[in-house]
Amino acid sequence: MSSPAITDAPLTEADVQRIRADFPILQTEVNGHPLVYLDSGATSQRPLAVLDAERDFVTTLNSAVHRGAHTLAAEATEVFEDARGTVARFIGADDDEIVWTSNATEAINLVAYAFSNASVGRGGPEAERFRLSEGDEIVTTEMEHHANLMPWQELAARTGATLRVIPLDDDGALRLDEMQISERTKIVAVTHVSNVLGVITPLAPIVAAAREVGALVLLDACQSAPHLPLDVRALDVDFAVLSGHKMLGPTGIGALYGRRELLAAMPPFLTGGSMITTVTTTSAAYLPPPQRFEAGTQKVSQAVALAAAIDYLSAVGMPRIAAHEAVLGQRLVDGLAAIDGVRVLGAGIELPRVGLASFDVPGIHSHDVGQFLDDRGIAVRVGHHCAQPLHRRLGVTASTRASTYLYSTEAEVDAFLDGVRSTIEFFG
Ligand code: PLP
Repeated sequence: MSSPAITDAPLTEADVQRIRADFPILQTEVNGHPLVYLDSGATSQRPLAVLDAERDFVTTLNSAVHRGAHTLAAEATEVFEDARGTVARFIGADDDEIVWTSNATEAINLVAYAFSNASVGRGGPEAERFRLSEGDEIVTTEMEHHANLMPWQELAARTGATLRVIPLDDDGALRLDEMQISERTKIVAVTHVSNVLGVITPLAPIVAAAREVGALVLLDACQSAPHLPLDVRALDVDFAVLSGHKMLGPTGIGALYGRRELLAAMPPFLTGGSMITTVTTTSAAYLPPPQRFEAGTQKVSQAVALAAAIDYLSAVGMPRIAAHEAVLGQRLVDGLAAIDGVRVLGAGIELPRVGLASFDVPGIHSHDVGQFLDDRGIAVRVGHHCAQPLHRRLGVTASTRASTYLYSTEAEVDAFLDGVRSTIEFFG
């Protein structure tokens, strides 16, 4: 298993080169050019350690977990549960507060479902916190990924509750003065890092406002867990969701963190095998969390691989990764802002950022920008990035997004900036 043998110092160029050697795909060429992968915000690349972990599991332990009495099944169950513990430690939670899901989208839908009154009367006093009806309010923001917006729209439609949206100002910053968190608010769902602006959300005042009225807080950590140290207890959130494929892990696996007493009060989202104690033809008793939320055959090799991804990130050190990407993010924003004809979305926001920036070139469609860059082997994301309300608020239908990770280099950022300059010359 390859691992990044580096020290406690900030990531140096040599460290990054050593890390890059662990990622086979970064050695490939695209359209005759060395790949410059600046689309980690959409999905990250996987190091050999992650590929090896999944392969080792499948070649030596593959079997169904929490079932069979045979040796392989017992050992597979052990590594599956160890993987849960790895996720828990990574975000400052306890093992039984981590639920495996297919992705972050499923995790958010699972929590939204709990507010459909399915647990009221079944889960003790905490279940009351999930009671939702006409007059109650759900709060989210105008910058959310659709995954953290539509489940709440649907929930409001099902229950008659009202969805309140914290608006953005002309720069794209959250208007905290218009938060509208009140005694009626039951849940506040907010992203930790915008997947379009790359800006870290000022969480403390939002969480404080929610706490004051007894509302629950769900944190969309999809764009923060891969890039920043994360401690759900220090942030004082009730739920957090993350996606494995954005943090060096495989697709098809995500995780939900939920405070233990809340998970215990929530109804199952999916029902079926593996999540029950006894079943009759007319009723069923469910296992406690987290198994209550893990119906059906689980994503075992993916969980093992995600744990290997987290081990890899932890070995490098999350503070060092965050510092590296803060430098790259600033280089991206400054470099783009210096190019005539480029509008960086959220450029005026004075808050810390990760290594992600989106921009518009009036008169040139983002698909053309993306195509031009792709011809040079530079991979970026184009379109609305599943955040149409944010784009609409900033007066654009689409943008081009560049996003870095621990394996990205300053030279890659510069190659991208050169590519953007050439795009404008070509179309201008
Ligand atoms: N939230 C944010 C901020 C994201 O960036 C994404 C993915 O792009 C998601 C949620 C959804 O993640 P997934 O598609 O893995 O469920």
